[in-house]
Amino acid sequence: MNIQRRTLLLGIGTTAVTAAASSPFTLPCLSEPGKEAGQPIRLDRNENPYGPSPAAVAAMRESLENINRYPESLQSLREKIAEHHRVKAEQIVVGCGSSEVLKMAADAFLKPGKKLIIARPTFPLLAFYAQEKSVEVVEVGLASDRSHDLEAMLSRADSATGLVYICNPNNPTGTLTPRGAIEQFLRRLPPGIPVIIDEAYHDYVTPTSSYASFIDRPAGDSRTIVTRTFSKVYGLAGLRIGYAVAPPEMAHRLFALHLQFGVNAIAIQAAMAALGDAEHLRQSVQRNSDQRQEFLNQADVRMAGGNNSQTNFVQLKPDHPVDEVVAHFRKNNIVLGFGFPGADEFVRVSIGRPAEMKQFWRVWDMLPHKDMH
Ligand code: PLP
Repeated sequence: MNIQRRTLLLGIGTTAVTAAASSPFTLPCLSEPGKEAGQPIRLDRNENPYGPSPAAVAAMRESLENINRYPESLQSLREKIAEHHRVKAEQIVVGCGSSEVLKMAADAFLKPGKKLIIARPTFPLLAFYAQEKSVEVVEVGLASDRSHDLEAMLSRADSATGLVYICNPNNPTGTLTPRGAIEQFLRRLPPGIPVIIDEAYHDYVTPTSSYASFIDRPAGDSRTIVTRTFSKVYGLAGLRIGYAVAPPEMAHRLFALHLQFGVNAIAIQAAMAALGDAEHLRQSVQRNSDQRQEFLNQADVRMAGGNNSQTNFVQLKPDHPVDEVVAHFRKNNIVLGFGFPGADEFVRVSIGRPAEMKQFWRVWDMLPHKDMH
């Protein structure tokens, strides 16, 4: 396979949009409606449209007072995350976004001669890192219910496998892979192959017996690395902070690869405050779930498809070429996600605020849809 850098960037929604200049010392309250008036409506990067917790904003402001100092050690944050998940601090790996943690895993486990097993379509960053290292990327198509085809992934695993990546819920499909199937996969996977379970969208999953986080309910498997991020439900994407929970030896191996002082002082303080604000998390999840349902209802009325998303985005298969649809929305000031390898016929729509989603459907309805009644 050949994942082009451009494709990857488009896939994770990095369409260039100029941000308005603002003083570094004024941190706007992002929960203020209309703050982004005049700027494009961003439905391409699966961010929290309501912004971070007020406690995190206060912590950011406060940490500016000491910004002439290097960040403190990551130990207090590791302890706070460990306490949050009821694990040991030595199991926590912190990075500049979970992207850096994925990079650490690629650096630790992938070298020429090894291979990465990954679904298609999925979040392609690890495949991109692997490709940069000339590591073979084995892509396995999702099953017909859009879960990972773990049987097929298992059949590709052998002594040359350096790493397996499972994104659950999956990006860009928003779908779940059942807990039982992953447990069975882990039991049958040959020993010594590390498995990343990317739970970036964990908080958005509607409670169901077929899903449980591998942090909350570990599988007792010494090869499992679970990644999480502050970029999604915590509303801190711009700060760049994420983490993994892994067995101590594995965590030690990954953390040895982190960039000294790479995670900045503001991010450390904001992340600690964010973890303490359960109400912000609850509200963000509730708003997303209400808006996701409303979005699916609207899609249904228009026979526009829409999948069983368990995340803060929904995939739609438009009845026009995707690049035309994306350009039409862009002309109308709305940015959509698209271009994931293996999901070329879909657009991925992040769930925004109610007014933003209203705009989405207004612009959608301007397209001359074949199936419109
Ligand atoms: N994992 C998944 C599934 C994602 O969708 C993303 C970003 O969109 C990331 C990881 C990377 O997130 P970050 O580096 O902001 O933590």
